[in-house]
Amino acid sequence: MKLGANVSIAKTGLLCAVEESVAYRADTYMIYTRSNRGGPARAIETFNRDEARALMLEHGLSDPVVHLSYLVNLASPKTETFEYGVSVLAEEIKRVEYLGFSYIVMHPGSHVGTGTDAALRRIAEGLDAVLSGTENLFLCLETMAGDGSKVGNQLEEIAELMTLVKHREKLGVCIDTCHNYSAGYDIVHDFDGFLQRFDEIIGLPLLKVAHINDSKHPLGARKDRHANVGRGTLGVEALRRIVHHPVLAEVPQILETPGGHYAHEILLLRNETDELPPDAPSGEES
Ligand code: FE
Ligand code: ZN
Ligand code: FE
Repeated sequence: MKLGANVSIAKTGLLCAVEESVAYRADTYMIYTRSNRGGPARAIETFNRDEARALMLEHGLSDPVVHLSYLVNLASPKTETFEYGVSVLAEEIKRVEYLGFSYIVMHPGSHVGTGTDAALRRIAEGLDAVLSGTENLFLCLETMAGDGSKVGNQLEEIAELMTLVKHREKLGVCIDTCHNYSAGYDIVHDFDGFLQRFDEIIGLPLLKVAHINDSKHPLGARKDRHANVGRGTLGVEALRRIVHHPVLAEVPQILETPGGHYAHEILLLRNETDELPPDAPSGEES
């Protein structure tokens, strides 16, 4: 099992992200390399990459993930928003290649009124503008909850998007337990059934990253509100079954839960405690 959390680069870049992950006794981790409030990105050369890598090696951390800014919306019908997304994504790929990571997770996008089909074509157009086929990483499309006008909540939409992209060999998929449950997949009672559908529709080798979150809302609610492990509608037993599933053994599994209780939640998921973390209000966890 490769379990970790969404950690901060605020102080010393990658180095503090790894230090935080070591403190959680994590196996992997995820970062955002830039603020989700916008503005210019901090120079990637200031991230203390080499020291961070040495610390990862020392503590057995592997397969780190970058989450793309969620200000990027390649499905937008607005030219300005679309072009901003294309330029941020292109820049992010270079930054992540510098760090040496293999995975970028991105939200497919929100159609804001144009409908799913137009959105999928627009996203593919954006990805085609960026991907050359020479990238040293997988761009992983995250499965969404179906809130607002977001696309990619159904596995068929992700599959269709992938077929529209020229360099689809550079694409992967990130599942998210909160989103999938909220989109109507009953992964609490039948995670195997979900994986079987994933395999039929997309193909299991393309499942590259998993976000592990409990949910504040019931099955099929189409709401994206993450809850602490065991404090939501999925519950600790279902989430334990998922993280220990052999299909996910080599997949980086990342907590994006509220309140900063990652160390506790990692112990809980590893069956090293049965005590639940506090029930924190959910914020922007993505
Ligand atoms: Fe989310
Ligand atoms: Zn996300
Ligand atoms: Fe997520």
